[in-house]
Amino acid sequence: MNSNQKKPQGLSSLETLYPFFNSLQEFVCIISEEEKFEFANQSLLSFLEISSTKLKVLTVCDLFPLFDKNFKKPHSQIDLIHPKSNKKHTFVLNFSHDIDGKILYKFTISPFLAELPETSSSSENSLFNIHSSKTKKTQKENTHSEDQLTFLLRNLPGMVYRCKNDPNWTMVFVSEGCYDLTGYKPEDLIENKKIAYNDLIHPQDQIKIWDEIQEAIQVNKKYEFVYRIFTADQQEKWVWERGQAAFDNHQQSLVLEGFITDITDRIRSEMEAKKAQQQADALREALTEITTQLSLAEVLRKILDSLKKVLSYESATLFLKLDGEVKIVAARGFENTGLLINRTFPSNHKLILAIDEVRKPLIIKDASKDPRFEKWDIKERSRSWMGIPLIRNHITIGYLTLDNNQPDIYTEEDANTAQLFANGAAIVIENAKLYEKSQQLATSDALTSIFNRRHFYELALTEFERSKRYKAHLSVVMLDIDHFKYINDKYGHLTGDQLLISFVQRVQAELRISDVFARYGGEEFIILLPETDNRQAIQVAERIRVVTAEKPFTNNQTAPYITISLGVATLDSSCDNLDTLIDRSDKALYEAKQIGRNRVRSWNH
Ligand code: GH3
Ligand code: MG
Ligand code: MG
Repeated sequence: MNSNQKKPQGLSSLETLYPFFNSLQEFVCIISEEEKFEFANQSLLSFLEISSTKLKVLTVCDLFPLFDKNFKKPHSQIDLIHPKSNKKHTFVLNFSHDIDGKILYKFTISPFLAELPETSSSSENSLFNIHSSKTKKTQKENTHSEDQLTFLLRNLPGMVYRCKNDPNWTMVFVSEGCYDLTGYKPEDLIENKKIAYNDLIHPQDQIKIWDEIQEAIQVNKKYEFVYRIFTADQQEKWVWERGQAAFDNHQQSLVLEGFITDITDRIRSEMEAKKAQQQADALREALTEITTQLSLAEVLRKILDSLKKVLSYESATLFLKLDGEVKIVAARGFENTGLLINRTFPSNHKLILAIDEVRKPLIIKDASKDPRFEKWDIKERSRSWMGIPLIRNHITIGYLTLDNNQPDIYTEEDANTAQLFANGAAIVIENAKLYEKSQQLATSDALTSIFNRRHFYELALTEFERSKRYKAHLSVVMLDIDHFKYINDKYGHLTGDQLLISFVQRVQAELRISDVFARYGGEEFIILLPETDNRQAIQVAERIRVVTAEKPFTNNQTAPYITISLGVATLDSSCDNLDTLIDRSDKALYEAKQIGRNRVRSWNH
């Protein structure tokens, strides 16, 4: 850098920086040799709730009880007494400089968080008001002041600039903070020597900035905005800029003067806070969604959809532990989802063991480089991977896994969110399982697992009404095992029970999916045959009779043969209600018993 560019040409006094100090959110004050306040910036005045005239009558010790002229150490603490409330506030001193016996303090609350008070805009406020203040000073004084100003500018967190009002934002002066901010030296930017400042601005922000500045010039106002730039090493940074237009008498043209500072950290933390809030909202929504489902099948289907609201994934899998194995019960985002469902993995799979060991989410940054993925079909697609245990009452009931084809995208926060979701999902799954179980108990027979009499009646009623309305065929077969008391007596009650189970399976194999087969009581069963006329129903009954009698019901020691008697009744115009139809089949069964058992009888008027 040559010495001409080092110093902004014509910068001559500390006062020329007042407008700039006023644009800072940090507090700036200048203390005179007489230990009075010579200057305080807008932020400080607003904080103190006093005017600059009132401030001038205060002594430094009124504000700074521990004031010490030699107190200059940056990053030390500085105590300030609020003149109205008398409360003590502690700040961080981030800049202190002695100039001709005057002391300049710059100290920080939280930069840029508070709203900036608008200061009046006029040509006198110009940051580098070159011509108005230099006349009274000697050349020597000027040089001295320039050195101090250069020193100040060099130590400011950001970049002070003066540029032409052209689409390149051609810089005519840039302070040294430029290098920290952009990675370019001031001389790289001045006169667009290496790169124009506009080319550093994110393409999506360029037009917006141009428009806003032109608008501000029109109404003679300051401009202020937040946008993105790319540094020399292609890093994206968020910056805050404040500036204003000024007329350069020397050049007879409009120039812009302002200050640009890096606020990437603040924007990032704001974005993170926003993301956390969004995740919390999405989590609540996702959990509400799955809680409103009752059937287990629906819950399992819904879980992965709802999870998408909380975390991004290319594909996801839901596993449940069943009989010592881990079974895929739902999957999303795979080409062959259908083939994955019901696939099982041994519960000692390395990844499952790894999750079980920590009992919290396991993140793999790049699954394509992890040997534990070798046996998984999804290896090709998966880069980032996260496995989350589903834990209910301290027991791991299953796992959720997420895959993403970008490496290293899941964070610790994602893992926390995923675990909260999984905890909710585990409760919902267990509740759905219990509900399903209680539903099953209410509708089925405990020994044979087919429908019980009550549920049969409900289903049959609907079918009866439908058949009547549409004049469809409908038949009922009532059947009873012959001399079952004898079976019990001879082989024991337990064998009798096993025989009932085997018998049910044998009958079920003869029925259509639409037929309703139920245990009517003891060793008595009933079958509802929709869309079946009397002739067909007798055939079905006969077939069942034959398959029952033709071979023994083997168990370990014994091989008893049994026979059954069956009564058939078919819906006709004389049958007004379901009870009549069932009663007729019962009567037919009675007849079958009467005339010798092991036969089918159909009801006749
Ligand atoms: P039939 O119907 O041919 O007139 O003679 P049966 O011996 O089958 O007659 P009954 O209806 O009097 O007796 C039914 C027997 O079925 C009585 C009961 O011990 C037995 N039984 C009913 N429910 C069960 C059951 O759940 N398990 C076992 N093992 N036996 C049952
Ligand atoms: Mg019987
Ligand atoms: Mg009986």
